[in-house]
Amino acid sequence: MIKREKGKPIFVVHEHHASHLHYDFRLEIEGVLKSWAIPKGPSMNPTDKRLAIMVEDHPLEYAKFEGIIPEGHYGAGAVVIWDRGYYLPLGDKGLEVQLKMGKMDFILQGKRLKGAFTMMLFRGRKNQWLLIKKNDDYADKTWKIELALTKEKRHRLKLKTPPCETKNP
Ligand code: MN
Repeated sequence: MIKREKGKPIFVVHEHHASHLHYDFRLEIEGVLKSWAIPKGPSMNPTDKRLAIMVEDHPLEYAKFEGIIPEGHYGAGAVVIWDRGYYLPLGDKGLEVQLKMGKMDFILQGKRLKGAFTMMLFRGRKNQWLLIKKNDDYADKTWKIELALTKEKRHRLKLKTPPCETKNP
């Protein structure tokens, strides 16, 4: 079961040490985790515009996934939770509507990611979005991303096939 706080939708960011390190940003929308691969990871610096490539939806249970995806499987490598928490849509429309409009504004309540963000679809593109921190009290122009995967953490990770792959081989 996914822990919930007063029905607030969740978000999670996986740090994924695949052939190329990237971050998978996931938002709970309409019962699934809408997902974007962010090569450089999210940023708390409003001057950073981070490319976010929309990838396939993941089941909600995947929010708690951590482990090492075995060699020979898609995305082989270590996956750890880099941040997680809740989000609140900004404006009068839910993210399921904003998503279809190609621009989403929301507040993240995580440990690393806090405050208002915007995501926008590149004009004329299908899957390429930008994730940008809005200028608010949480914005930090000196912010640098830090790895969640430490040596100790890696030793504790188990080989695991992600549930989404188990369901759709
Ligand atoms: Mn990934």
